Amino acid sequence: MSEVMMDRISWVTYEARVKRDAPVVFLPVGALEQHGPHLPLGVDAMLSTAVAAETARRVDGLVAPPLNYGYKSQARCGGGQTFPGTTSLDAASLIGLVQDVIRELARHGVRRIVVVDGHFENQWFVTEAIELAVRELRHDAPDLRVLRTEYWDFCGKAVLDPLYPDGFPGHALEHGALMETSLMLHVHPELVALDQLPDDGPAAFECYDVYPQRADGVPPSGVLSSAKGAEADKGALIFDAVCSGLADAVLREFQR
Ligand code: ZN
Ligand code: MN
Repeated sequence: MSEVMMDRISWVTYEARVKRDAPVVFLPVGALEQHGPHLPLGVDAMLSTAVAAETARRVDGLVAPPLNYGYKSQARCGGGQTFPGTTSLDAASLIGLVQDVIRELARHGVRRIVVVDGHFENQWFVTEAIELAVRELRHDAPDLRVLRTEYWDFCGKAVLDPLYPDGFPGHALEHGALMETSLMLHVHPELVALDQLPDDGPAAFECYDVYPQRADGVPPSGVLSSAKGAEADKGALIFDAVCSGLADAVLREFQR
């Protein structure tokens, strides 16, 4: 099987693959953000990268190195900025990074790009970067196509419902909780501290935000709903549903 990680192949190999196969290039985006006491700070990029790599294997694509920083953590979906270790970008920086990478890939001749977002708060800034890149490149690369996804959207009710006996809390509260912990047990089990699984939440937030951000109202563990019940087998189920769904979408959208 050929290497999918772009930073592990030479420019010569890369150029040949782009010319010969016109591969889809995946760009994983994440964050450096607390995910409770049991998970590492890099979960969002690790998971989007794992999804991108597995899907790239299935569609014979390539994966650009992930963006390991993301937009500012928000209390109601990531616990917020008050935790040590959470290290975030201003929106303009994130927009610039994503736009720069898309422009460079297009310069290489890549015309099909998939941005795999693993951090809720990135969504609209990644979207803006894609919009600006597509507008900027409309004359030089009019056939450029970019697919953007929050990877968890490929995991539907049929997969999720049986995994949550008390009901799925929603993706915003799935922070450091059962889904992310199960996925990490599947792809990076050595990085999960199973003896520290928090059983918080689901967190009860007001329906508004106040700035500057403050820590009150956020569970002290940083997790927004329980991680109890997380298992590698559940992670494998979710992971396969996501990669299958994304591979199908890529083939469907990029064959046109
Ligand atoms: Zn996360
Ligand atoms: Mn996040």
